[in-house]
Amino acid sequence: MEKIKTFLTTRLGRYLTIAGGMLALACLYYSYRANFGTSSAMAQSRHRTFICSETGRPFEMNVDVGMTVPVHSPYSGKDTGYPAELCYWTADGSAKTVPTPVLLNLVVGKKGPTFCPDCQRLVVGHNPTPTEGGKSPPTETEYRQRHANAR
Ligand SMILES: [Zn+2]
Repeated sequence: MEKIKTFLTTRLGRYLTIAGGMLALACLYYSYRANFGTSSAMAQSRHRTFICSETGRPFEMNVDVGMTVPVHSPYSGKDTGYPAELCYWTADGSAKTVPTPVLLNLVVGKKGPTFCPDCQRLVVGHNPTPTEGGKSPPTETEYRQRHANAR
């Protein structure tokens, strides 16, 4: 009888130890998740789209303090990555949800306005995102016509 009692006590003791340990693990897990959640949101805010001036291909990168532009491009293998402007327009003048990253002429020291390779519309620095009932930017043809008429 004495033996069984000891057995039960030790089993109960063991069980309690395990339960306690699991509870501690659960706490760790939830606090980890909470922390991880915040840091991933923060990481997202530092996430920027760059565009390789040599290959014209966009890539994502985390922006860090002290980083200099151009950044290292994974496509050219050189420092040819420039911050991209995002164009949210389609060729027919409506808004789209997945933007096209565009490299501004100005950023790479080229002259003249920049037009989106996808919708052919004018892209400017801090390119405005489409608003409800907002006017779409002019296409390259519209832009050139307007400027030709102004002359
Ligand atoms: Zn576009």
